[in-house]
Amino acid sequence: MYISLIIYLCVFTQNSGDVNNYPNILLISVDTLRANHLSCYGYEYPTSPNIDKLAEKGIVFDNCIAEVPLTCPSFSSMFTSKFPRTIGVTRNGLGISEEDISITELFKDKGYFTFCVQSNWTLKAKLSGLKKGFDIYDDDFHVKRWGIFSPERIADEVTQKCIDIIKKLPEDKTFFGWVHYSDPHAPYHFRKKYNVHHEEKVRKNEKTYKTVKFYDSEIRFTDEQIGILLENIPENTTIVFVADHGESLYEHNYLGHGRKLYQNEVRIPLIIVSPEIKPGRTEIPVRGIDIGPTILAIANIQKSKGMLGMDVLNESIDKERVRVIETYGGAVPKIPILRSLMKKSGPIMQSVIVEDWKLIVKGNQKELYNINEDPKEINNMAKKYPEKVSKMQSIIEKWTKNTPINNKKDIKKLSNEDLEILRSMGYLE
Ligand SMILES: [Zn+2]
Repeated sequence: MYISLIIYLCVFTQNSGDVNNYPNILLISVDTLRANHLSCYGYEYPTSPNIDKLAEKGIVFDNCIAEVPLTCPSFSSMFTSKFPRTIGVTRNGLGISEEDISITELFKDKGYFTFCVQSNWTLKAKLSGLKKGFDIYDDDFHVKRWGIFSPERIADEVTQKCIDIIKKLPEDKTFFGWVHYSDPHAPYHFRKKYNVHHEEKVRKNEKTYKTVKFYDSEIRFTDEQIGILLENIPENTTIVFVADHGESLYEHNYLGHGRKLYQNEVRIPLIIVSPEIKPGRTEIPVRGIDIGPTILAIANIQKSKGMLGMDVLNESIDKERVRVIETYGGAVPKIPILRSLMKKSGPIMQSVIVEDWKLIVKGNQKELYNINEDPKEINNMAKKYPEKVSKMQSIIEKWTKNTPINNKKDIKKLSNEDLEILRSMGYLE
């Protein structure tokens, strides 16, 4: 058993319900940012000096996984604290419904001013439904770049938008803000000024090396912008830093995210910085649905009925905690009726993690890894430990049976522009 990390509730419950007694909270998220490409998560190249500084001031969660390695489903899980299948948001292009309560609505009810600066097309209000509860949801980025509609807004513009909104707020207004950066998402643009791979020696695999070099330059650029943002926000703002999913950089013969469940795609950074928190690191098992209740607890807001995650700052979490995750693939079909039918189709891959052991199941294919000893998931031990495989598989089966897929009918309408963008991002079948 782990002892809870801090005693937020004790600090704040003695205050009145007045929102001014609670901190400003800024959720900073980065799309497609695998944890192990940040220096503060052990990466050998200096991609993240500003995020590292943040990490030194706060608590770093070493063992946090996304519910699903895909943008809109992952954020929908964080904001509703429910599994993607429970809310019927298993792919991009499917958004949350009116009946799914988002943490933003609870912040709004508490009296917080709420704003969001968005940068990823799949998170636009009309596609994601995540606008609920936000006073400002700035998702206006229709600029064409490189001759095509850009699926993302570039980090410098995101930073500036966020600073502008905060500067215009009255000083006595307590805020919950969400700022999302998307630069590390493909297509990766090489930012020479932010290149962290300076050695010129020829690598064995030039294609992989170039991809990693490009990807890392996008991370370093985003990090720079996060540094600028952090210098321009009110002191004592509580910061929650997270990613929606990682990225496979040709590992397991795959470039991208959404289709597999290896650690490169599902292990995400999570850092929380607040005057109330003693800096440090923890390996408690955390998952996407915990993000919402944890942020709520910082403002002493009770999670709503049906929210499934835990407040990882205050609740005790077993190190044996069972985490089942799954993916449905990345893309949505072009034809609306197929999008409706698709809801009934099951996951393409499922996985369960219990302590150091991880089982990945795809049809009859089973892979078992000790992710502590073999973090790259190379040595499949399924044949060596058949009993472990069968025990872990039965956990997945039980979870699947007890967690019905939501077959809600309200499918978001996709315009021709949406279809063009989703195609450019690789999210259209
Ligand atoms: Zn994403």
